[in-house]
Amino acid sequence: MSDVASNEVSSLFGGPAPAGSAITLYNQPSADHADKVHATLELLKAAAFEHPGKVVQATSLGVEDMVLTDLIARHRLPIAIGTLETGMLHAETASLIGTIETHYADAGIHVEVHKPVAEAVIAFVQKNGEKAMYESIDLRKACCGIRKLEPLSRMLAERSAWITGLRREQSNNRGDMAARESDDQGRAKFNPMIDWTWGDVWHYVSVNHVPYNPLHDQFMPSIGCAPCTRAIAVGEDFRAGRWWWEDEKAKECGLHVHK
Ligand code: SF4
Repeated sequence: MSDVASNEVSSLFGGPAPAGSAITLYNQPSADHADKVHATLELLKAAAFEHPGKVVQATSLGVEDMVLTDLIARHRLPIAIGTLETGMLHAETASLIGTIETHYADAGIHVEVHKPVAEAVIAFVQKNGEKAMYESIDLRKACCGIRKLEPLSRMLAERSAWITGLRREQSNNRGDMAARESDDQGRAKFNPMIDWTWGDVWHYVSVNHVPYNPLHDQFMPSIGCAPCTRAIAVGEDFRAGRWWWEDEKAKECGLHVHK
């Protein structure tokens, strides 16, 4: 069995976490962890109640979003789940879509997959090359626009609210975000894990046997597209492995930036 497969089985069926795994490294709940879980669940319920049939969890398939999906499935909340398949994801990340549907089959969980417009991707790559994202911030943002922002706009088109796994701790850019806010279109945006620490996240994963991306076990706390994600070293910031060649202030793909 490969390392990837053994980690997934461990998480899915509740066996001991492998030595050196993210669970063994980071499982460290805050004193008020239970209160945070309760508050997160209450906010998810509020989102479902206030936006019946019109709310989606926009999952990045990162570990925070896996926690939210677990709460939604566990409590049978009427919240859709959607993700962006940019065409540049690691195989481990893309395979989580099937893992979620299998793991939560009893809850009837289906993951909407939103892909970029093929013609737009082809035209961009033909004009700018496969590695355009490294050439300039403008080209990187253009790639994110085609592969992420446009598909996200389709995911949200008929919806009045969306849910994210953002946490304040993730970056300076996210430090002043609130649990409830509005996006640039006036849509409600819920960030129910805004106060969670990294230790809280992994404690929940450990206790509830939440499946997660095995790349988190390889020092990738924040996982995006493969060309734009690398492992971080000890002491580096949480998002140091994302767009690492750019200035810190530019490091958002636009999904969560207010104009
Ligand atoms: S993260 Fe990188 S590969 Fe993915 S859409 Fe943005 S620039 Fe393109």
